[in-house]
Amino acid sequence: MKVTVDMDLCQGHSVCMDECPEVFEVVDDDQGYAKVKILVGEPDESLREKVELAVKYCPNRCIKIEE
Ligand code: SF4
Repeated sequence: MKVTVDMDLCQGHSVCMDECPEVFEVVDDDQGYAKVKILVGEPDESLREKVELAVKYCPNRCIKIEE
């Protein structure tokens, strides 16, 4: 699976990092806004459940899983 985030929609709520810190980290961008950073773009299948929770609970619905 491949994980992508629509950065225009991400508002740095950190829900994704709470659900799956192995894949998502929230950091400040150049302009000081919190944004997600994808640590592992193609995570192992063992992380699928956690990534799916991040997708489900992201308030802005900006995380996608591509197969
Ligand atoms: S939960 Fe969604 S909006 Fe919040 S930091 Fe993660 S990707 Fe961005």
